[in-house]
Amino acid sequence: MTTGPASTAIPELLRGEGLPAFEAITPEAVTAHIPELMAQLEAELTALEQQLGAALDSGSALSWSQVMDPLQRLGERLRWSWGVVSHLNGVCNSPELRDAHASQQAAVVSFGNRAGQSQVIFRALETLQRQHQEAAAGTAAQLDPTQQRILAAELRDMQLRGVGLGGEAQEAFNAASQELAELSTRFGNQVLDATNAFSLRLTSPGEIEGLPTSLLEQLAQAARGAGDAEATAEAGPWLLGLDMPRYAPFMKYSRRRDLREQLYKAHVSRASGAPLNNWPLIERILTLRGEQARRLGYDNWAQVSLAAKMADSVDAVERLLEDLRAAAFPVAQQELEALRACADRHGAPEAEDLQPWDISYWAEVLRQESFDLDSEALRPYFPLPRVLDGLFSLCGRLFDIRIKATDGEAPVWHPDVRFFQVLEGSGARAGEPIAAFYLDPYSRPGSKRGGAWMDECLVRSRKADGTPVLPVAYLVCNQSPPVADTPSLMSFEEVETLFHEFGHGLQHMLTTVERPQAAGINGVEWDAVELPSQFMENWCYDRATLLGMAHHWQSGEPLPQQEFSKLQAARTFMGGAATLRQVHFALTDLRLHSQWHPGCGQTPEQLRRQIATTTTVLAPIDEDAFLCSFGHIFAGGYSAGYYSYKWAEVLSADAFGAFEEVGLENEQQIRDTGRRFRDTVLSLGGSLDPKAVFEAFRGRQPSTEALIRHSGLVAV
Ligand SMILES: [Zn+2]
Repeated sequence: MTTGPASTAIPELLRGEGLPAFEAITPEAVTAHIPELMAQLEAELTALEQQLGAALDSGSALSWSQVMDPLQRLGERLRWSWGVVSHLNGVCNSPELRDAHASQQAAVVSFGNRAGQSQVIFRALETLQRQHQEAAAGTAAQLDPTQQRILAAELRDMQLRGVGLGGEAQEAFNAASQELAELSTRFGNQVLDATNAFSLRLTSPGEIEGLPTSLLEQLAQAARGAGDAEATAEAGPWLLGLDMPRYAPFMKYSRRRDLREQLYKAHVSRASGAPLNNWPLIERILTLRGEQARRLGYDNWAQVSLAAKMADSVDAVERLLEDLRAAAFPVAQQELEALRACADRHGAPEAEDLQPWDISYWAEVLRQESFDLDSEALRPYFPLPRVLDGLFSLCGRLFDIRIKATDGEAPVWHPDVRFFQVLEGSGARAGEPIAAFYLDPYSRPGSKRGGAWMDECLVRSRKADGTPVLPVAYLVCNQSPPVADTPSLMSFEEVETLFHEFGHGLQHMLTTVERPQAAGINGVEWDAVELPSQFMENWCYDRATLLGMAHHWQSGEPLPQQEFSKLQAARTFMGGAATLRQVHFALTDLRLHSQWHPGCGQTPEQLRRQIATTTTVLAPIDEDAFLCSFGHIFAGGYSAGYYSYKWAEVLSADAFGAFEEVGLENEQQIRDTGRRFRDTVLSLGGSLDPKAVFEAFRGRQPSTEALIRHSGLVAV
């Protein structure tokens, strides 16, 4: 063994605590040190299993600090190290880093599987729970409510992985899990292949009537990629396809009804016939999920999904969806009539016989006639520095915090990245640090993943010596960078996105829970986790908040009132159709996983069409095989969970409703309500049942009334 300063220093990737020194985390460091970390963690997990196994065999009592603390520490070391590698892979990608990340991913996943499926750990957790249930009040074996929830969630997750099964049942469970994983992958691949298999080459100017230049550029680029080396946006040829970036704008702008029909039919029938046929996969997946559910002791797969969610039962989800459906259906009918009338005014023959391929087109015509909102023209009113001021002062008002730029006080991964501290706003602890966050606002094509997200850098906890660890968040957006003297000018959607991610960040940063397994967003049920984020988006439509921050970056002029009104109108335009569409998807997903089984006398498609009679205002056409491309539930993680989108919107709208009720101009009451939101939703994280958290804030269980109102579904 060598000695000396160079070799005694702990490699950055193995440090496991504190703010990362990003520049030290190179691709070479990843391939050198992650295997070392994994070997350490594997060895420690084995040692822990041996210790716990011996204790279980001897029948001696177990304590939280013997079981849960070491497990948490193992998980945290992996989270810290792999978290920073994944973060850099998303924001500073390079071929070398991507390879290094990919080379280690399998080991990381398999460690997670091993810990999550360990029989010894499962028995140790069961013992902790039994001891708690049998212990007299006030004794050491009693767990506090947060500990109980952490333990129950851990046990449930392990049970759902089949750990509690034995012998043949376990073998069958594992075999079915394996088959389901393969079927999901095949389902997704067939959708992708079917999407790519279709193309339509347009060559005459008559075929591109109505299309905007940006779309023509995309279509010409696609044509060049397919062999038309000379294709241009002006002269063609133009290559159409079924991928969203080409499909959606074509359906919206093309004046050629015959082409819209052709494209629509190709889109809704993807992967529904040889050689790419997802029908048999759908029945097999649903059948296997039903069997898995019964092995785990549930009646159906929907119950398995709901076991880990805020929604209590299939009935509770059905009721929420029915509230929204009943409100949206008549509005969607009126919207369809309005589109028909619009087509009629334009003398279009389809006015008498509106079809699904006409909807996007006439909706766009009507939107432009009703309020021509040019989202690009609003950008000068939203320079990033002013938007940040507006966001931070809103948070100061609502949550009694102060946000201070502390650039230079922490290492960053790119010169554009900013670092901020969150301080207590007033009272005896005014000015005390609570948390911090990085903001990486601009897009960097080629090295930064698209989209926007909040991620955890450090989670609130206490070190072994009792010193607190303050939470730190990564906030990542992808807006246009500043050019010369012009600051980053944001679109209204980008402002909403920033507020949304900041909402996630607030829940992460303002948590008061000190057990990291339940701090911030940890342990928050999946259908409740979008509550703070969507809640913050609502403030973008609050007059005082929006007009307070939207000022022209050069002239300082406030956003004209009429533009604000257009933003509000755009929010609810075609709101009935949009809500109904989500309800149709959610209900189809839910009932396929709660009602359908191989002997039920119906095919999945027949069940879907039956649901469509009350959840669509234009019945699906014969060619419509939407289920064959419903990747969310057959290839992704949303099975019996698609409803979560609407569930979370109900919560966030209802939470904002509390502020509307006290009056958005009523400053003191707004501050009091904001403080209560901070002390409940933002503070308690996963330490309590989300229904209890919501009730602590709102004084009652969630109601769909506010969302129905915000979506413009109330008769006026
Ligand atoms: Zn979100």
